[in-house]
Amino acid sequence: LIKWPEYFEKNELKYENLNNCSVTNPGLNDKISIFEGDITTLEIDAIVNAANNSLLGGGGVDGAIHRAAGPLLIQECKTLGGCSTGAAKITSGYNLPAKYVIHTVGPIGEKPELLRNCYRNCLDIARENNCRTIAFPCISTGIYGYPHEKASIVALNEIRNYIDQHSDSFDLIIFCLFMEKSKQVYDRFLPKFFPLR
Ligand code: ADP
Repeated sequence: LIKWPEYFEKNELKYENLNNCSVTNPGLNDKISIFEGDITTLEIDAIVNAANNSLLGGGGVDGAIHRAAGPLLIQECKTLGGCSTGAAKITSGYNLPAKYVIHTVGPIGEKPELLRNCYRNCLDIARENNCRTIAFPCISTGIYGYPHEKASIVALNEIRNYIDQHSDSFDLIIFCLFMEKSKQVYDRFLPKFFPLR
C-alpha cells in the first residue's frame, strides 16, 4: 500500500496533458493510495466487491472475496434480494481482514452512467456506515469487459468529484490494481485527476 504522492515520485510518473488537468487540491492527494495485489488482503474498513445482480458469488474478484470471507458471507448475501446494476449493498467482512464488504454491480460493457453510479453509491454507503478507509477494484474491467482506459477515467473522475464535496468523510481511498493493464492506465490518468503540482 503506497500513498499516491510517493507512488508518483517512485515510479517517475509524468503529466501527459496538463490542459485537461483538474484544479489542484493538495489536501486530497494524501487520501489516495495505490495497492497492487489481492484486495482480500487489505485490513481496512471496507473493500468493494465487483459482484453480479444475484449477489450469490461469481468469478474474478467476487470469487476471491467469497473464498476469503468464508461461507457466512454468502448466507448474508442471500438475505439481500440481489442488487441492481449501479447500486451498492453492504455486508460484514467475516473472515476478511476488512470490516465490511460493499457489493456493487458494474455494467456489462461501456455504460459510463451506470459505472459512475457504482462508485458514487459505494462511497455513499461507506459514509453512512462510518467507513473511513475503502478500497476499489477496477469495477467491470474483468469479465464485464469495460474498456480499461475509459473505465479508469470514469472511476477517477467520479471519486475526485465525490471527495471534493466530502473531503472530511474519508481518510484513505485505495485503488486496487490487480492486472498489469490496470496499473498502466492508472499511472497514466491518476496525475490528471490528482495533480501534485
Ligand atoms: P467484473 O465482472 O466487474 O468485470 P471481475 O472480477 O471480472 O469483475 O474484474 C474486475 C476487476 O477486478 C478486474 O480488473 C480484475 O483484474 C480485478 N480482480 C480480480 N481478482 C482480484 C482480486 N483478488 N483483487 C483485486 N482485484 C481483482
